[in-house]
Amino acid sequence: MEGRRKFIKLSVLSTIASLPLTGYPKTPFASSGNAPVQYKPQVLSTWNHGMPANDKAWEVLGSGGTILDAVEQGVMVTENDLSNLSVGLQGLPDREGIVTLDASIMKGDGSCGAVAFVRQVKHPISLARKVMEKTPHVMIVGEGARQFALSEGMPMEAETLSPNAKEAYDRWKEKANYQPIINIENHDTIGMIGLDKDGSMAGSCTTSGLAYKMHGRVGDSPIIGAGLFVDDTVGAATATGLGEEVIRICGAFLIVELMRQGRTPQEACEEAVKRAVAKSKDLENTQIGFLAMNKEGSFGAHAIRPGFNFAQHHQNGRKLIDSGSWFK
Ligand code: ASP
Repeated sequence: MEGRRKFIKLSVLSTIASLPLTGYPKTPFASSGNAPVQYKPQVLSTWNHGMPANDKAWEVLGSGGTILDAVEQGVMVTENDLSNLSVGLQGLPDREGIVTLDASIMKGDGSCGAVAFVRQVKHPISLARKVMEKTPHVMIVGEGARQFALSEGMPMEAETLSPNAKEAYDRWKEKANYQPIINIENHDTIGMIGLDKDGSMAGSCTTSGLAYKMHGRVGDSPIIGAGLFVDDTVGAATATGLGEEVIRICGAFLIVELMRQGRTPQEACEEAVKRAVAKSKDLENTQIGFLAMNKEGSFGAHAIRPGFNFAQHHQNGRKLIDSGSWFK
C-alpha cells in the first residue's frame, strides 16, 4: 500500500482496477452538454467504496430513516471497512505513526458538525453528528473531541496500526520522504450527499486524511464549505483529493453558490475545478474530485485528472460513474 496518496501519479492510476469491488456496472459520465437527468431520492458518494456505503444509506432511507441517518450510517460502512486505508482507524497514519481522523456532517437547513485531528474514535462521523446535535458548536478537535467521544460512551479503539497500515508505514519510514501529495490507490475520502423524496438533503464526509501528513495537519473534509456543503434550497457538494487545494477555493461552498446562481451541478463542478487549477500551488502533483447534486436531483462531478469516480444510487439502480477531468 506504499504511497497511498500519490493520487496524482498517473503511473498508479491503473491500481483502481484492482479494487475488490467488482461486478458493479460502470458508466462513463455524461458531459455537461447532455440533458439533465434527475433522480429523487438519490444518494451519491465518492469512489468505489461509495457503492457499499450507498447500499447502506439506501437501506436506511428505505426503512424510514431520515436523509441524515442515511448519510451517517452509509459512511460508517467505510469507517468500518478494514481493507480501507484512507477512512477510519485502519487508515494510514501521519508521519509520527499516529492515525488522526477528520469528519463532517451537514443538513440542508444549515445544521452542521465536525471533528478534526481526533484519535481512537471508531466513528468520527457519528461524533461529528453529536457535535451538531448535542453542543452549541460546529467543530471540536483533537483531545477535546476524543474526550467528548468518551463522555458520550462512543466506541473507541486502542491506538494500534492495522496490519496493512503498519506495513505501509514501515516501508514509508525507510525513506521518510515527506511529500504531502495524494494518491488514488485506496480511493481516499468518502464524501456522501443525499436527497430524500421530500427534498431534504444531507451530506457526510470522513477520512484519515493525507497519509504521512504532519502531526496536526487537517484537510478539507471536516471544514464546512470546503469538503462538504449542503443547502437544501439549492443543493449539496463534497470533495476529495488534496485538501489544501480544496480549502483554498472553499470548494464545496463555491459549487453550491454556483448552483444557486443557475449553474447545473456539472457546470458548477467544472468551474470549481477550473478555479482550483488556476490557484494551484503545485498542479503537477495535485488531484481534486468534486461531486454535486442540486435539489431537483441533477448531479455532476469533475476532477483535475482522470481517475476520479463516484457511486450513484436511485430508484432505478446503482452504479459507478467515471468523472470527467480537466486533464484528459
Ligand atoms: N481530502 C482529504 C484530505 O486532504 C484527502 C482525501 O480525499 O483522501 O485530507
